[in-house]
Order: sequence, then C-alpha cells, then structure tokens
Amino acid sequence: MDDCIFCKIANGDIPTDFIYSDENVVAFRDLNPQAPVHVLVIPKKHYKSGIEVDNPSVWSDLMSSAVKVARELGLEKDGYRMVINTGEQGGQTVPHLHLHLLAGRNLGWPPG
Ligand code: AMP
Repeated sequence: MDDCIFCKIANGDIPTDFIYSDENVVAFRDLNPQAPVHVLVIPKKHYKSGIEVDNPSVWSDLMSSAVKVARELGLEKDGYRMVINTGEQGGQTVPHLHLHLLAGRNLGWPPG
C-alpha cells in the first residue's frame, strides 16, 4: 500500500529502529507511548485490520513474534498486555494490522 505509514516503516522507506524483524514481521517503538514499554508488532504484508486476515499463519507469526519481543525485553516477570484495536469502535487509528505490546506500569481494566 503506497500511502500506508506502517508499510513504509516495514519496507524501510521510513528509517526505523526495529526491535525485532523476521521474514514476515517487524516490531518497533510506538511514537506516542502509552506505557514505559510500548512496542508495535506488525505483519510486513498489508492488512487493513485483523478482519481482512485470511491466513491463520498471519496470527501465529504476529503472536509468536510479540511473545519473543516480550521475552527479549524481559517483560515476563512483571507481565505485559497485548492489544489489537480493530475498526472504528475498537479504537484503531492506523489502518494496517498491528499489535500493541504494553508494559512497565499497572495497566487499568476495563480499558476506556
Ligand atoms: P491504533 O490506534 O491501535 O491504530 O494504534 C496506532 C498506533 O500507531 C498509535 O499508538 C500511534 O502512536 C502509533 N504510530 C502512528 N504513527 C507512528 C509512527 N510513524 N511510528 C511509530 N508509531 C506510530
């Protein structure tokens, strides 16, 4: 997708420090962090949201990468949260599927 900011990040058009990168997934720090640790994990392939995902391997790649990042950042002791905002009422603002990995403070529940 030419006009998608996360596609530009994933394909290197916008220089970004990747915390994690493999064949299908990249992870990088959120520009506007909502917790001391706030990482976005995204598939390199463009899906507007999870609703468009047609292949279960996209989910397994995304989740297993997020778990790896959490482990590498040492988040397992105190815990973390993974969130995928989907669509308008889900609070999604960037239309490229992404998983938020949040940690480093007590996270409230229910979400706002
Ligand atoms: P969502 O609201 O779930 O769609 O999340 C989109 C997230 O992307 C927000 O937390 C933004 O702060 C973050 N974001 C938007 N643009 C960038 C960018 N260029 N680099 C890193 N994070 C970004």
